[in-house]
Amino acid sequence: MIEAQKLSKLYGSFRALDKVSFQVRRGEVVGFLGPNGAGKSTTMRILTCFISASDGAAKVHGVDVFDDPLQVRRKLGYLPQRAPLYGEMTVWDYLRFAAEMRGLDDSAFRSRMKTVVEVCGLAKVLGKDIRTLSHGYRQRVGLGQALVHDPPVLILDEPTSDLDPNEKAEVIRYIKEIGKNRTVLLSTHNLSEVEAACARAIIVSKGRVVADGPLDDIRARSGKVRYVVTVHEKKVYEGGEGYRDSARKPPTAEEVQEALRGLPGVLTVRELPTDDSAHSFELAGPLGTDVRADIFQLIVQKGWLLLEMRRETQTLEDVFKALTRGDERADRGRALLNDEDDDHASPAAAAAAAASEEEDDEPEDEDESEEEDEDESEEEDKAAAEEDDESDEDEEEDASDEDDASDEDEEEDASDEDKGKKKD
Ligand code: ADP
Repeated sequence: MIEAQKLSKLYGSFRALDKVSFQVRRGEVVGFLGPNGAGKSTTMRILTCFISASDGAAKVHGVDVFDDPLQVRRKLGYLPQRAPLYGEMTVWDYLRFAAEMRGLDDSAFRSRMKTVVEVCGLAKVLGKDIRTLSHGYRQRVGLGQALVHDPPVLILDEPTSDLDPNEKAEVIRYIKEIGKNRTVLLSTHNLSEVEAACARAIIVSKGRVVADGPLDDIRARSGKVRYVVTVHEKKVYEGGEGYRDSARKPPTAEEVQEALRGLPGVLTVRELPTDDSAHSFELAGPLGTDVRADIFQLIVQKGWLLLEMRRETQTLEDVFKALTRGDERADRGRALLNDEDDDHASPAAAAAAAASEEEDDEPEDEDESEEEDEDESEEEDKAAAEEDDESDEDEEEDASDEDDASDEDEEEDASDEDKGKKKD
């Protein structure tokens, strides 16, 4: 239903997207994850025909976004980061306006509204002016606008940013409901939302796809399991016939660490901070193994007192951090300029590099050295700043209500300022 093939986007000479490829199949709700600046909105704007790609191809519902953008727009509902709302309109009038824009006649609109109102929880606010609504309700109206023409594909760009935790949970509940019979691509950097609403995720970092697959596969990507083992620092085990040994002393941290390190299947042992009543360690072992029985045997043998032992696979958050650490615009410039960048020395960067190599069947070194010359760096920043005024952006903002428009202006100014700082 959504297909991106080697999409690249240059803002001036700044490469915001670099050969991004993925597919979203019918009926899937896919989380599109990545830190700020990773290229999520850029990808979504290309897929929704707001901006064009510099290279590559994309299809929505089998239709090419470059060849037939009108047909693509008919097939999709899009909720940009800031919903394009008109504050002076009532919710009902605004949704009717959105429906008219989509070519629905009055009776089609009325019958469609039954579902939209229910799915987005809008019954109580239909007669209210949009400007009087809370952020959460505004997002729901935005969702309503994206759904009013009953599109088979929905593209939602950070629909829950700016919402309080209760509003977030509500909007995610509505998205799950909507996703029951539609294809949804949902961008966010909130991992718990992805875990709540999506079975699959695509992670982007520095304009590239670094992971794509079911959440369990992504979690397993680190290839490791983690254990936490805590033993008493002041007491030893005293129970059981024939077990008492008055000469036995509580262990030092070094003794525990040494003993754990000696267990087969334990790759690393790291001391965790504790108060002065316990020694606590984090162990890592290969995925698919379980050394808890060995740990228990060891502790019994030594006569130590076990306070805690747990085993956990890495969380989505661990993997996300490992794959995307250091993904900031300035950092990206540096990484592309210098292959020996110190980022690459860290395990996280190594994981990210390994991941992106796995995803991309093209050799990448070539592009990086060819296109990201040191001489180009100044030009790059200048061009990127100029591109801020892109007419596409204006187009999107024109649709906003007055309040929102002024918010947007502020935001644009702020981001210009940011860029100015980064340039310095
Ligand atoms: P995300 O949605 O993941 O936060 P974006 O797609 O908005 O990321 O941005 C990706 C990168 O492209 C960022 O470094 C951003 O500053 C840059 N960028 C986005 N839009 C423009 C633009 N119109 N002009 C110049 N640079 C831009």
